[in-house]
Amino acid sequence: MYEKPHEECGLFGVYDPHGQAVADEAYLALYALQHRGQESAGIAVNDGGVIRFHKDVGLVPEVFNEKNLRDLGEGQIAVAHTRYSPGNKQERAAAQPLVMRYVKGTIAIGHNGAISNAGELREELEQGGAIFQSNCDAEIIAYMIARARLTSGSVEKAVQMMMEKVKGAYSLVLMSPRKLLGVRDPHGFRPLSIGKLGDSYMLASETCAFDSLGAEFVRDVEPGEVVVIDKDGLHSHKEMCGGKTSMCIFEYVYFARPDSVVEGVSVHVARQRAGMILAKEHPVEADMVCGVPDSGLDAALGYAQESGIPYGIGLIKNKYIGRTFIEDTQKKRERAVRIKLNALSAAVKGKRIVLVDDSIVRGTTSAHIIQMLREAGAKEVHFRISSPPFLHPCYFGTDISSRKHLIACRMSLDEICKEIGADTLGYLSIEGIHAIAKEARIDFCDACFTGNYPIEVPDEMPVDKFANKITG
Ligand code: SF4
Repeated sequence: MYEKPHEECGLFGVYDPHGQAVADEAYLALYALQHRGQESAGIAVNDGGVIRFHKDVGLVPEVFNEKNLRDLGEGQIAVAHTRYSPGNKQERAAAQPLVMRYVKGTIAIGHNGAISNAGELREELEQGGAIFQSNCDAEIIAYMIARARLTSGSVEKAVQMMMEKVKGAYSLVLMSPRKLLGVRDPHGFRPLSIGKLGDSYMLASETCAFDSLGAEFVRDVEPGEVVVIDKDGLHSHKEMCGGKTSMCIFEYVYFARPDSVVEGVSVHVARQRAGMILAKEHPVEADMVCGVPDSGLDAALGYAQESGIPYGIGLIKNKYIGRTFIEDTQKKRERAVRIKLNALSAAVKGKRIVLVDDSIVRGTTSAHIIQMLREAGAKEVHFRISSPPFLHPCYFGTDISSRKHLIACRMSLDEICKEIGADTLGYLSIEGIHAIAKEARIDFCDACFTGNYPIEVPDEMPVDKFANKITG
């Protein structure tokens, strides 16, 4: 497999007071958000309180066809979800949106993130008689809302009651019989934006979904905010806003699409800046700068601009490969990389190459790519990474889950360089990564690089002896 950290979901919601093709809009938006999750996809459509839905494991075009999209019918509200599951497990029961009947009707919910007190909350709910169908946090959140709704006067109040108990990362799109809600946890770990198309309001994990529909971006949902959209328009509840924020800084480096704008900063510009800072922090004499497609390309451009070394295309990506299923051995993983990427001999032969990528997780994919460039005739390969080394697990909705899989936890900088076969290796510094989106209207989480978790997390192994060698 092409080893990269994975985001765990893309969200979309739409409220159309005229009740037209909300399913079609959700379907197109899911295409724009496919990069945030490839394991399952789903759309739920609400027509006057009657919710129809379709969801399954697979990519958006595998899950939806003309018939099942038509069967969703017309409606006033839709929520949609695309999911990545840790370990590439395709769990049908965890596909979202989750649709649940409760005392006030039916709700549908899609979640991006991971809640850190899930175990405790699940046990409490099970003791109260709840029966769970999956391991996904969305089910816990939905139960908490349903339970709170018994005593709250409105669904938005029930959501706020849930927010007082749930800790960790959650951006949500949710629909009740008459309302569409967008929710962001008080730290704002995961993005969520508001868009508008005619009289319709939309919610999406990334602004690229609005662009794909011709909608205009209105603003980001604030950390801690509950946005409610109904027949009277958009209302906001900000009782939980105003605390310390910590959006995932890796959204800029890798997760988000370069054509998205997150918290007022273009992802493309942030990546380009990362490359420029990298060129200042780790200069080298070379003939050509190239990026690992796709997420290394913008940073490579920045490196070339700052260093004055010509930018070129050294690797070609096969655009027609989605997921591959030949991933269980080292040899097979190497083949999977080779069918996704190929080195361009005509461009790299005889040259000293600066190769820019966004991160190194285990190091095996990086080693294969460097080997490919050498086989194609590259004289030297200087590897530059547009983020600091991963040293700590993420508890907030990505699969950077175990220190034993992170090469920077096991090896020093020189050892990693040797292991992956590069001539030199340089990572972006912590100061550097914070400078890539310095005008953003939010503070950042950088815990997978620093170990400074913005909220309490489960116990972890102590930082091992090699960690400081790389960052220091
Ligand atoms: S630990 Fe890393 S990947 Fe996880 S939310 Fe924080 S910055 Fe993002």
